[in-house]
Amino acid sequence: MPLVFRGNCSHCGYESPDVSAGGFVVLVTDREEDARRRLGEKFPIVTHPFAEYVLEEFGLSFHTTAWGGQLVEVQNLVCRDCGRVTQHRRLTAGGVAIGCGGCAGIGAMGLVLGIAVGFLVANPFVGAGLGIAICVLLATGIEFSANRLVRWRFPERVAAVDTTRMCSHCGGWNCVPVGSRGGGPFPCPECGETSVRMVPIARPG
Ligand SMILES: [Zn+2]
Ligand SMILES: [Zn+2]
Repeated sequence: MPLVFRGNCSHCGYESPDVSAGGFVVLVTDREEDARRRLGEKFPIVTHPFAEYVLEEFGLSFHTTAWGGQLVEVQNLVCRDCGRVTQHRRLTAGGVAIGCGGCAGIGAMGLVLGIAVGFLVANPFVGAGLGIAICVLLATGIEFSANRLVRWRFPERVAAVDTTRMCSHCGGWNCVPVGSRGGGPFPCPECGETSVRMVPIARPG
């Protein structure tokens, strides 16, 4: 359950809207979606561990949306220059592991293959060499994470969806994740005093 924070100004009593710490993943199906959302369209938040249930309502699977470049990770940030909340968006694979079972299977196959080749050519060095080569390939494969793969597959989506960590209100580059320690106090959008603190509140409902 994500923690929810609310900014409170001790000087003028200003209260910010509730904002969840960290981030969430949003489903994006087309280019014009952001524009429609600004007009008030409800958007599906794909929250772990309910991701699959949420997507099922749209007739989608986690697999197709994640690998299809339809998930956007949104991180809530507080601006230390103006005290408003801004969002950092990034195309993601939704934290999908590349399939560890699959990796382990490939690794085992590589090992068996390496031993078999070494045995066949009666040269253990060839087998060991092949085994090392497969290990290097695997390590590279794991490092080449699902996120990067998806971002590489859909450069135009990355361009359409990604935002910088710049504050969308004042253009400042001094934003910190909501709930991060030592982030406050922030300037108050109402009175201008640096007296807004983000305090955790109970999640409504
Ligand atoms: Zn204030
Ligand atoms: Zn700002």
